[in-house]
Amino acid sequence: MKNRFDTGKVLVIDDEQILRDGAERILKRMDFQVFKASRGEEGLKILEQEPVAIVLLDMKMPGIDGMEVLKRIMELDRGILVIVITGYATVETAIEAMKRGAYDFIPKPYEPDQLRIVVNRAREKMRLTQETEKLEMERKRTLADLHTSQSRVHTIIESLPNGVLVTDTNGKVVLLNPAFKQHLGLAKDLMPGGDIGAYIYDKELCKLIIDISRGKYVDFDDIPTHELNLDGGRFLLARSRPVLGEKRECLGAVTNIMDISAMKALDQLRAEFVAKVSHELRSPLSTIHEQLAMALNDMDEGASENEQYLLSRAKEKTKGLISTIGDLLDLSRIEAGIASKESKPVQVDELLKSIVDFLGVQAAAKKQSLTLEIKDEPLPSIMADPMSLESVYGNLITNAINYTQAGGEIKVFLDKTGTNLRVIVKDNGYGIDAKYMDKIFEKFYRVKNENTRFITGTGLGLPIVKGIVDSLGGYIDVESETGKGTSFTVLLPIK
Ligand code: ATP
Ligand code: MG
Repeated sequence: MKNRFDTGKVLVIDDEQILRDGAERILKRMDFQVFKASRGEEGLKILEQEPVAIVLLDMKMPGIDGMEVLKRIMELDRGILVIVITGYATVETAIEAMKRGAYDFIPKPYEPDQLRIVVNRAREKMRLTQETEKLEMERKRTLADLHTSQSRVHTIIESLPNGVLVTDTNGKVVLLNPAFKQHLGLAKDLMPGGDIGAYIYDKELCKLIIDISRGKYVDFDDIPTHELNLDGGRFLLARSRPVLGEKRECLGAVTNIMDISAMKALDQLRAEFVAKVSHELRSPLSTIHEQLAMALNDMDEGASENEQYLLSRAKEKTKGLISTIGDLLDLSRIEAGIASKESKPVQVDELLKSIVDFLGVQAAAKKQSLTLEIKDEPLPSIMADPMSLESVYGNLITNAINYTQAGGEIKVFLDKTGTNLRVIVKDNGYGIDAKYMDKIFEKFYRVKNENTRFITGTGLGLPIVKGIVDSLGGYIDVESETGKGTSFTVLLPIK
C-alpha cells in the first residue's frame, strides 16, 4: 500500500453547494486545507493530484454515484479514509459502504459538531497510521544505510581501534571500518559492496560469517571465535555476532577483529617463565621430599605422634607440590609444541595393563573394582612418546578413581575402530553436570560441589590429556550424567 497522504488535506464531494460550503467552513476552522468537488468524476481527478487524506463523500449524486466513487478510491489503495454522507432513509447504503471499506458515515442532515467529531477521529487515525509507518520504514531500512549514513554511530564505528565488518543476509559486505582494512592489510580505498571473500581470505572464517549472516546461530554462546595467524607473527582474533532486527530476525552479521599479537607474545613469555620456574623448583623440592622421607624413617621410636604427624604432612605436601610442578612442566611443554618428545612404537595394551596394575592399589584402597578389557588382539602399536601416553590414560583413570565413591566400578576398554585405537575409561561415580563439560578441559578448572569438595587436585590433568591427544592427531570425548557416572573416550590414530 502506498500511503502517500497529507493529514491536513480533505476533499468534500457533494452535489449540493450549501452542504459543500458548510463543510468547508467547519473544516477550515479545524485547520484543514479543503478541496471541493460537485461530482464523483471531479473528485477523483482531484485525488490524482492531491495527497488528500480524508474524503467526505455524498452517496447520492448525479453522474457516477457515491458507491462507485468509493470503489474507485479504495482501488487507489492509498489508505485514504472515506467518510460517507447519507440520508436517514439509506442506512443500508451506509452499511454497504462500510462493508466496502468506508471508514465512517454521517447521516444527513448533520450538525457541525457531528462532522467535527467524526473528522477528528479520522484525523487521529491517520496520524497514528503515519507514525506506525514511519517506525516500520525505520525498521526496514537495511543495514546498507550504515555505510552512507552520516550518523554519529557511523563516525564512532569509523574511529574504533578494532576492525568492524558488517555483512547482510547474503554475505555481502555493507560496512567496514578503516581499522578492519588496516588489520587485514586491505587497500585503504576499498569500498563495501562486494562478497565477503574479497575482504577476508580465510575460507573458514568466511564460511562462519556467512552462516551467522543467514541466521544459522540462534544461541550466541554457540558461536566460535576464530584466530587468524598472519605473516610476521601477527595474530588476529575474530568474533562474529548476528545483527538482529526488532522482531529478533537476523539482518546480517557484525564481525569484530582484534589484534592479539601482544597478548600472544605475553602468553608465550608466561609459558616459558612457568617452564623455567617449575624446572628450577623441581629438583630442590624432590631433594626435600626425599630427606623428609628419610627423616621420617629414621625417627626414634620415642618420637611423639605429633612430630611424626607434622613430618609426614610436610612430606605429603611436598609430594603434592612436585606433582603440580610436573603438571605445569608438561603443560608448558605442550603449549610450546614439544609434547611428543621422542616418538616410538607403543603397545597400548601393555601400557594399559601396567597402568591398571599400578593404579589398582589406589582403587583397592577405596574398595573400587578396576578392570581392563581388551578386544581385537593382537593390536597394532602407536607412534608416541610413552611417557605422554601414560599421562593420558593415567590421568583419566586417576580421575575415575578420585571422582567415584568408595565401592564404585571403573572399567577400562581398549579396542580398534577403523584406523584408530580406542580407549574408554568408564566409571559409575559422581558424574559431571552438562554445563561444565567444556570447562573441565580448561587449565585449573575444577568442578566444586558437595562430592568433590574434599578431593585435592590442581585442575591440570584434563588440559594435559587434551593437549597430548591433540598433538598426536587424536580425539577425546566425554559423556556424563550426574549421579550416574562418566565415560571418557580417547581415539588415537594408528600410523
Ligand atoms: P589434577 O590436576 O590433579 O588432575 P583435577 O583432577 O581436579 O586435578 P582434571 O583432571 O583436569 O583436574 O579434572 C577437572 C575436573 O573435572 C575435576 O576437578 C572434576 O571435577 C572433573 N572430573 C574429571 N574426571 C571426572 C570423572 N571421571 N568423574 C567426575 N568428574 C570428573
Ligand atoms: Mg585429574
